Amino acid sequence: MHLLVTGGCGFIGSNFIQHMLASHEDVVIVNLDKLTYAGNRRNLAEEEALHLGRRYHFVHGDICDQELVPELMKRFVFDAVLNFAAESHVDRSISDPFPFVTTNVLGTQNLLEAARRAEIPRFVHISTDEVYGTLGPTGQFTEDTPLAPNSPYSASKASSDLLARAYFHTYGMPVMVTRCSNNYGPYQFPEKLIPLVYLKASRSEPIPVYGDGQNVRDWIYVMDHCRGVEATLFKGQPGAVYNFGGDAERTNLEVVRLILRLTGKSEDLITHVTDRPGHDRRYAMAFARSTADLGWTPQHSFEDGMARTLAWYKANEAWLDEVQSGAYRQFMDNWYRTR
Ligand code: NAD
Repeated sequence: MHLLVTGGCGFIGSNFIQHMLASHEDVVIVNLDKLTYAGNRRNLAEEEALHLGRRYHFVHGDICDQELVPELMKRFVFDAVLNFAAESHVDRSISDPFPFVTTNVLGTQNLLEAARRAEIPRFVHISTDEVYGTLGPTGQFTEDTPLAPNSPYSASKASSDLLARAYFHTYGMPVMVTRCSNNYGPYQFPEKLIPLVYLKASRSEPIPVYGDGQNVRDWIYVMDHCRGVEATLFKGQPGAVYNFGGDAERTNLEVVRLILRLTGKSEDLITHVTDRPGHDRRYAMAFARSTADLGWTPQHSFEDGMARTLAWYKANEAWLDEVQSGAYRQFMDNWYRTR
């Protein structure tokens, strides 16, 4: 099975590629990644060492490229496209929405169109619970909840979801959309809450918490999300949307306090800062459809996932230092020089 995975050098894409290469001997993966600040080839260094040029291929490129993407789809005969590539950080989308619309909307459109022309039999578009907007103190998002995005990030993801939907309804293209709650786990870039708090705590630096810290997110361990995408690839119905959640609603303050406890640091490090503009109050995911149709449920409790995650960051301080210094880019430059 030949898969085109986009954004495979990012957090979730790296975990997905590692999982698929390790658990399916017949899978060949082409990873198309632009290597933005969030993309790190070193995340897949072991896979490169074991499989490069055979079961794993890396292509440094942009999903918006209207020549490269169709050319790739001619060069390899793909059984499926899995679109992880995105600008993914809400705060960055507030300071500059433009790259979010470019990659998340136009890039997805370019992939959909090229896949349609190449008649690729499956297309899984990876999206987020943030497209549903915000909840009050009760209730959960289902796949039928109307889209009501509130940030430039979530608006760009909702737009790409609607393009995916249109390609199914207009062209009969076998597109599936997955929507997942907040992920955490190994290889997450330290601008996101959990690695950021770990990093600050480990250095005894002040930990910024937005507003009153009572915003609620439903946290899912990244490998549970990857298994959900895998199940969608093999068992999903064309045109369907699947929600994945971790059954682990926590306020931001609860998450920060847990990390401080697990790292043995004082809560005095918590520093409340001005709230993010348009900050969604609560997300919670109902995933009964994914359980019924795909046989999927999350396998990791929040406490178990957090213990694994913090153990990974502790054992990989060099990775954290590298992604902050940008030194990992040298890996890429050296690789090109020595090819
Ligand atoms: P990430 O920011 O860690 O990684 C994104 C990857 O996409 C990077 O490797 C980057 O280099 C690549 N990329 C960016 N623009 C590109 C372009 N134009 N062409 C090719 N590659 C490009 O993101 P992530 O957290 O791994 O998220 C992956 C997907 O999952 C995204 O679509 C995101 O919206 C979705 N998602 C994320 C979460 C979460 O909690 N992180 C939750 C639900 C859904």
